[in-house]
Amino acid sequence: MFHVKQSEYPVRLGEVLDLTITGYTSEGQGVARVEGLAVFVRGAIRGETVRAKIVHLGHTAAYGDLLEVLVPSPHRVKPGCPAASRCGGCVFWHMDYEEELSAKSQRVLDALNRIGGANLEHVDIVPSPAVTGYRNKAQYPVAMEQGKAVAGFFRPRSHQVVDVGRCRIQGSAADRAKDVIVRWMREFHVPAYDEKTHKGLVRHIYVRTASATGQVMVCLVVNGDRIPQESTLVENLLKNVDNLGTVLLSIHKKPGNAVLGDKFVTLYGPGYLEDTLCGLQFRLSPRSFYQVNHDQAEQLYAGALEMAKLTGQERAVDLYCGTGTISLVLAKRVKEVIGVEIIEAAVADAWENARRNGIQNAAFRCADASKAAQDLAAEGKKPDVIVVDPPRKGVDEQVAEAMAEMAPEKIVYISCDPATLARDVKRLGERGYALKQVRAYDMFPRCAHVETAAVLQKKLPCEGEL
Ligand code: SAH
Repeated sequence: MFHVKQSEYPVRLGEVLDLTITGYTSEGQGVARVEGLAVFVRGAIRGETVRAKIVHLGHTAAYGDLLEVLVPSPHRVKPGCPAASRCGGCVFWHMDYEEELSAKSQRVLDALNRIGGANLEHVDIVPSPAVTGYRNKAQYPVAMEQGKAVAGFFRPRSHQVVDVGRCRIQGSAADRAKDVIVRWMREFHVPAYDEKTHKGLVRHIYVRTASATGQVMVCLVVNGDRIPQESTLVENLLKNVDNLGTVLLSIHKKPGNAVLGDKFVTLYGPGYLEDTLCGLQFRLSPRSFYQVNHDQAEQLYAGALEMAKLTGQERAVDLYCGTGTISLVLAKRVKEVIGVEIIEAAVADAWENARRNGIQNAAFRCADASKAAQDLAAEGKKPDVIVVDPPRKGVDEQVAEAMAEMAPEKIVYISCDPATLARDVKRLGERGYALKQVRAYDMFPRCAHVETAAVLQKKLPCEGEL
């Protein structure tokens, strides 16, 4: 970390510098050092020498715009997406997939060693089965540009919407639905929502596709209770989107950045989607979490449970269980499982999914993970294995504490943020758990995020760590 005032930085705003890139930030920018100060350059690759102009001085680093690549990396490629430089969604189009995987596994390794206090030499990363067209979920922000509705993605570090045309990492149904909705907005003068004035109607277009069935759910997020020309919109979607399963409105009248509102109104179909994952049937309500890369999620769940080396006799707890995906895969391999999830609709899905699959050894609780973990510990539950799959902020102190109190033999931690995973590995280490195995999974090709599965085991006296 750089500890001098910005006025004493060794670089100035507007200065043009030749830099050697030595690594990546967690957002995928190249990192160079100038007299100890980190300079972040979007679009630069490790090993390259680049010319960059300093455009921003941050609290601990400077930011440069890439002007020219002076010595290119052998991993540099022509971006496979024409919107790559304008769209803030992806960050790795300028490099081959091999380098992207290496950047991601390095990030997990660095986090676990630096923050987690581990002493790993290498972290394996499982490539995604598909690098394009893999996403089953799109959330397009909608805005007015010169009086016309547009939908797409935000520009890097901004809330300006860019119409990217065909998004390369989405399945094609999402873009088709988006185009139908934008045409309908333009034809009937339906205004997009303006986050500054809190006026206008359409906020986001949310589309989810079931990989196994191809069924599509289209959800329009609106700052109101109704939409004009509702039946025309549904008809147009039915005409243009193959396999349209359901259409909904999400009523969202509060200001702020949350994408979805709390209330849903079904305009067509059953109001949910159905998919098959790991050989099981799942009902998915619009609010319920579902991994965006179906085929990689199957590899992740199978891999994480294989790492847990189950015997079939275990009692398991699955914290942050969503619609019960992991719980139900687990239920087939353990004696019993209790899933915990905070979103009510997801818990209802989880019960229904257990029923649909004829699974009787799974139960679900709708609660905050920390409260539920404390309750389970207080009830004297002694699971043999606890699976946690928290959101990016990781598990909080009380969850770690309650997990340690339940004293399972193993904790399987599935994480979407290496930094919080590493923090929690340290916390659990202090409570008697040793990191035994780690594997990264590339769930989000071309994007900065990376998923990790880790197994922690109760330490025996005198036992070392990895
Ligand atoms: N294991 C599931 C879901 C993982 S995503 C799967 O793989 O499909 C994380 C889940 O944690 C989401 O469903 C989210 O709604 C839930 N969640 C977020 N905060 C929570 C909290 N404090 N307590 C319990 N669940 C929470």
